[in-house]
Amino acid sequence: MSYIESKSAPRREERLGTCIEFGGAIGEIHEQFCGGCLRNRRRSFSQGTICQLLPATAILTSLKDTVVIVHGSIGCGGAVHSQGASVRLGQFNSGDKNPKGALWLSTNLNERDVVRGGEQKLKEAIVEADKRYRPEAIIVLSTCVPGIIGDDIDGIANELSGQISAAILPIHCEGFKTKIMATAYDAIFHSFLRNLVNGKDETEYGIYNNELAVEQERLRRSRLVNLLNVSSMTGPDQNELIRLLNKLGLEVNMLPCDAHPDAFRLAPFAALSVGVCPTHDDYFMKHLHEKYGVPFVGGQMPIGIGNTGIWLRQVASFFGLEAAAEKLIETETKELWDALAPIVKNLKGKTAMLSAGEMRTFATAVLLQELGMDILAVRPYHYDEFGAVEVEKLEKVDPGIRVNVATAQPFEAVNLIKRAKPDIYIGHNSDNIWAAKCGVSILPIYGAGYIYCGYAGAFDIAKRINRHLKKHLL
Ligand code: SF4
Repeated sequence: MSYIESKSAPRREERLGTCIEFGGAIGEIHEQFCGGCLRNRRRSFSQGTICQLLPATAILTSLKDTVVIVHGSIGCGGAVHSQGASVRLGQFNSGDKNPKGALWLSTNLNERDVVRGGEQKLKEAIVEADKRYRPEAIIVLSTCVPGIIGDDIDGIANELSGQISAAILPIHCEGFKTKIMATAYDAIFHSFLRNLVNGKDETEYGIYNNELAVEQERLRRSRLVNLLNVSSMTGPDQNELIRLLNKLGLEVNMLPCDAHPDAFRLAPFAALSVGVCPTHDDYFMKHLHEKYGVPFVGGQMPIGIGNTGIWLRQVASFFGLEAAAEKLIETETKELWDALAPIVKNLKGKTAMLSAGEMRTFATAVLLQELGMDILAVRPYHYDEFGAVEVEKLEKVDPGIRVNVATAQPFEAVNLIKRAKPDIYIGHNSDNIWAAKCGVSILPIYGAGYIYCGYAGAFDIAKRINRHLKKHLL
C-alpha cells in the first residue's frame, strides 16, 4: 500500500492488474489470472463502459451533512438523478424521518472555462455551498474536463480551508483515467484518509470529563468495529449485519455509505475493521492499518449461508468469541433451513445466470448453489485477485460454469443468454433488461428496499426467486 502520500489514488489497472475481458470456463479464470495471462487484459471489442463517477456519486451523495460539488460539465452529474431513490431510502433507514435526498451542485463548466480554466467557478461554488448549507464537509469531485485542463483542486482546497468551516475533500475521479469503475472506491477513500481521518482523539474522548466516563468509552471502543458497507447494500442489509455483530456483543461504526464525517474520524479508534466486499474496502482497511494500526478482516462477502458463517467466524476469531459465533451460526442456520424447506424443493435443478460487480456476482451464485440451483453462467464486471475465494467454491460444484467478464457489453450478454437459456437472470437493471427482452425471468441483484446479506438475505433471495419462477413457469 502506502499510496497516501500521492495526490490521487492509482488506477486499478496498475494496483491490482484488474482484467475486464474473459470468456471461458470458471475452472480456467483464476489459473489464467495467476499465470499472468489475464492481468490487465483489455477489450478488443467494447460497446461502452461505465464511468467511475457513477459509483462515486452513489457513495458520496449518501453521506450525511455533506455537499458534493461535481466539478465538470453539467452532464457529469446526470447519474445522480437515477440514484435519488436509493439515497433517500438510505437516509430514511439510517434514522432520518424526513430525508432530503442527494445534496449536490455542479460547476457547470463550458467551452469558455475549458480555455480560461474552471478554478474560479469552483472557488465560488465551495464558498456558496458553505454559506448556503453550512455542511460538515464539502466534497469536490473532479471529472474529465478539469483533469484535462489542469485545475488545481487540491490547491483550492488548501487555499479555502482556513476561510470556511467545512472540511474540503478533493477527489480525483476523472472518467478517462481508468476503465475499471471500482477505481472510484480508492479515489474516495484516498481523499478521506488524507483530509478527514487524522487520528486526533477529539470526536469522543474529548466530550467526557470524568475518569469513569472515559473508562466506559475505552471499553466501548475495545468492542467497536468499523463496518465497511457498500453502496449496493440496503438499509435492511445493514440492519442484518449489525444484528449479527450485536449478537456477538460488538458495536458498529458504519462507513462510508450513509455515514456522517465523524464516522471517519472515529475509525482509527475502533478495535477492528470489518470488510463486506474487498472490491470496495481493501484500500481503506489496509491504509487504516498501515497508518493507525487498526487490524482488519475481509475478503469475504456475507451473501450466502456458508459465506455469512465464514464472515462471522473471521470477526469472532479476532475477539476470541469463537464459541459464541459457532452457537449463533448453528441457531441461525437451523432456523433458516427450516424456513427454506418448502422453497428449496421448488428451486432444485432450476438454472440461473448472474451479473454484477465481481464479488456480488460470485457470492450470490454460491448462495444459489447452496439452494440447489444450477449456475449456467456468471458475468462479473471485472476480475482480479479478490474473486478467487468465491471462484474456488463455484468451481468445486461445477467447473463448467461459463464466465464472461464484461462491464455492460449487452451484445455479449444477449449471446450468452440465448445460448444458456437460464430459468432466471439475476443482475442489475441495466443487464436485466436484455434478459427480459429475451423472455427470461429476471430478479434485481440489488434493489434499495430488499435484503441480500446475512441469513435474512439468504431467505429473502430464495423466496423471491421462487415467486418469480412460479409465475414465469406456469
Ligand atoms: S467520462 Fe468524464 S465527462 Fe463523461 S461522465 Fe465521466 S467524468 Fe464526466
